[in-house]
Amino acid sequence: MVSAELTNSHIVAEFEAKTKKSKARHLRGRELFPSGVVHDSRYMKPYPLYIDHAEGCRKWDADGNEFIDFYGGHGSLLLGHAHPSLVKAVNRQIELGTHPAACHETELTWGELIKLLIPSAERLRFTSSGTEANLLAIRLARAFTRRKKLMRFKNHFHGWQDHVAFGSKFHSGTVDVPGILSGIVENVIVADPADPDAVKQTLESDGDIAAIILEPTGAASGQIPLGREFARILRDVTEAQGIVLIFDEVVTGFRVSPGGAQAAWGILPDLTGLAKILAGGLPAGAVAGRRDILELLDFGVAEAKGFDKVPHQGTFNANPLSAAAGVAMLGQVAEGDVTARANEQGDKLKAAWNAVFAAEGVPWATFGLGSSVYVFTNPDGLDIDPENFDATLQPIQVMEIGGNHPACKSFRLAMLVNGVDISPKPGGIVSAVHGDDDIAEAAEAVRASIAMLKAEGQL
Ligand code: PMP
Repeated sequence: MVSAELTNSHIVAEFEAKTKKSKARHLRGRELFPSGVVHDSRYMKPYPLYIDHAEGCRKWDADGNEFIDFYGGHGSLLLGHAHPSLVKAVNRQIELGTHPAACHETELTWGELIKLLIPSAERLRFTSSGTEANLLAIRLARAFTRRKKLMRFKNHFHGWQDHVAFGSKFHSGTVDVPGILSGIVENVIVADPADPDAVKQTLESDGDIAAIILEPTGAASGQIPLGREFARILRDVTEAQGIVLIFDEVVTGFRVSPGGAQAAWGILPDLTGLAKILAGGLPAGAVAGRRDILELLDFGVAEAKGFDKVPHQGTFNANPLSAAAGVAMLGQVAEGDVTARANEQGDKLKAAWNAVFAAEGVPWATFGLGSSVYVFTNPDGLDIDPENFDATLQPIQVMEIGGNHPACKSFRLAMLVNGVDISPKPGGIVSAVHGDDDIAEAAEAVRASIAMLKAEGQL
């Protein structure tokens, strides 16, 4: 079954003609995995691509098609695929063993780099993913404050664990959440960032709020932008109320700036969830933050002060392969200009795509902070100039539906037909190894994709 806009589409037919091996693999995958995928975001119609190998900013599918990659390993890649420095570090480590079941020096170097880069990181704990990092941050906040509730924001994504698996783009409802205990749902307030006064009032009047978690640059890593002022308000009120402020910097960490959004804005949270670039494309996460909060994990402090420590295990915490890749990655973030370079290339990409939208008379606009790129697809047909569109000045309600144009799915497929893999938001992640030629080629793919959509009457 394909959705209405994909039925009888030449774009789908061209996609299918190019990707026969992916289709065959998808049929096998469907016998194993629900919908044939292992991550909800990889679900797509008519079927997802199977990628065989990747290098730099390119990847190749099972049929040998080449794509410029703007999916960026779900945001985990800052140096593209198989960067020689990371390949070397991981190869070296694999020969030294993958699991000593012990402490190891690489975790120290990795931790020291995080402490150096992330301004609020006085202490930290490694986890295996961003989901786990945020889960641990929330548990620590509850234990620290001895309060129960968590405040989150509509559309903000923090992973798939029970406290955060609803009220996001993936499950917009906040009642009858399938599979989640009502006791958890009842203790989570999903607030609307469009109404900061109401947020402030709730924080000031409800004495049982342990923590607030947010994506500091806005939902979906800035697709629905929030400015510094919002974070400032939250910082002030949480400080006054003794509420733990958690920045989810799983995507923004090391990307918005080497020290994440908090360094760029000069606003320090109490706890930070990190992942993705943290380990250069290998699996890992970390909670970093205030020493007095992280101390709840400390055996000695718990014994001396007479409290039950917060439990936390994890077979693959700081696993040596991720640690080796993380050290190689963050070493370059700390020493060089890789973050700035990715942001610069991101800005060029936005300008190039917007020039195409303007030239083709399509009222869409590419926006985003630095290397995080989104396309505002303007489903309500607002009168905008793609080259002068400021997403931060739009009402939140406008940006909330910015990725909802009925042609979005076809646009993504058309881009694949034209040799470019974007994310389904729609948008993309730009790395430090995307060159000017890649950006120019991707802009031509946008032009060709628009022509295909226009030919089908979808635009
Ligand atoms: N927070 C944010 C902002 C994310 O984008 C993601 C992953 N897309 C997560 C948390 C969850 O991280 P992970 O997939 O490593 O569990």
